[in-house]
Amino acid sequence: MSQGSKIVENGVTISRKPAIYLVGMQQAESAEIDRFLSDHGVQQWSTDTEVAAQKLTEIAGRMCYMSFAKPRPGGNKAYLGNIIDVGHGSVMEHAVYNFILTGVSRSFTHELIRHRAGFGYSQLSQRYVDESRCEFVEPAVIAQDPELHAQFVQSCAEAQKSYIELTAKLATGIEREHPDLSVTDRRKMARQAARSVLPNATETKIFVTVNARALRHFFALRANIHAEEEIRTVAIEMWKIVLRQTPAFFSDFELRKENGIEVLWTAHPKV
Ligand SMILES: Cc1cc2nc3c(=O)[nH]c(=O)nc-3n(C[C@H](O)[C@H](O)[C@H](O)COP(=O)(O)OP(=O)(O)OC[C@H]3O[C@@H](n4cnc5c(N)ncnc54)[C@H](O)[C@@H]3O)c2cc1C
Repeated sequence: MSQGSKIVENGVTISRKPAIYLVGMQQAESAEIDRFLSDHGVQQWSTDTEVAAQKLTEIAGRMCYMSFAKPRPGGNKAYLGNIIDVGHGSVMEHAVYNFILTGVSRSFTHELIRHRAGFGYSQLSQRYVDESRCEFVEPAVIAQDPELHAQFVQSCAEAQKSYIELTAKLATGIEREHPDLSVTDRRKMARQAARSVLPNATETKIFVTVNARALRHFFALRANIHAEEEIRTVAIEMWKIVLRQTPAFFSDFELRKENGIEVLWTAHPKV
């Protein structure tokens, strides 16, 4: 049975496409910006971007040198382009994005959370959430080969069956040994142990808050020919989204093909 990017086979739901939701971005407080400017003797300053993240980073950069008067031509795009050229990357830490990623594997999130600087995470808990009906993310290279695909589905089905059996047995044992524990705590104890048989392919959901500087570094490392396919795919899709929203931070990245594989390239990999 097929449900768009998902298929159900042998009782197992296979997910083949990550979903990326940009659920939050910043807003600028115009009255407070004007109050700051007038308190500091700036009679008139405006910029040509309506995008809060781009406006706020320009203000942050200009505040460093109090360079609001007589701005150079080219507007916000040129201003932030120069920030990237000269490597004044800390200014871009003031632009923040909130994403929810779903349909991604635990392998993917294990790689993602290695990115520490400028990233914040909240991930689906396998201790609290029942994984009896979890989905599995199938790598494209396995999905395209019928024999490998059948083996993948069988492995996932067996892991899921094991998880369900272990959870039930553990729950009975825990109830006998710890009758005073709440049902929630007993379930948590059973699930946290039973999850150990679930594979890296198990689908997960992660809330990611990240600033523009950290995202650029992430794209440089993960939308790269050396990166693993799932994280490369997600990185390129995230770049397309933030490029639409805030082109001033990301338009120096180019989508290229290397050995037939889509990658991102920039002349400014770490600013
Ligand atoms: C193709 C590829 C293969 C990989 N293979 C492996 C692997 O086999 N095994 C493995 O363990 N990891 C592997 N990684 C993960 C890699 O080692 C990094 O952990 C990951 O890419 C995050 O990069 P980062 O540390 O630069 O990012 P962040 O943690 O976001 O840090 C950003 C930058 O901040 C600075 N920084 C952050 N923390 C510190 C600190 N504590 N001290 C000093 N400076 C700091 C550094 O300049 C760093 O580049 C791989 C990554 C890639 C892209």
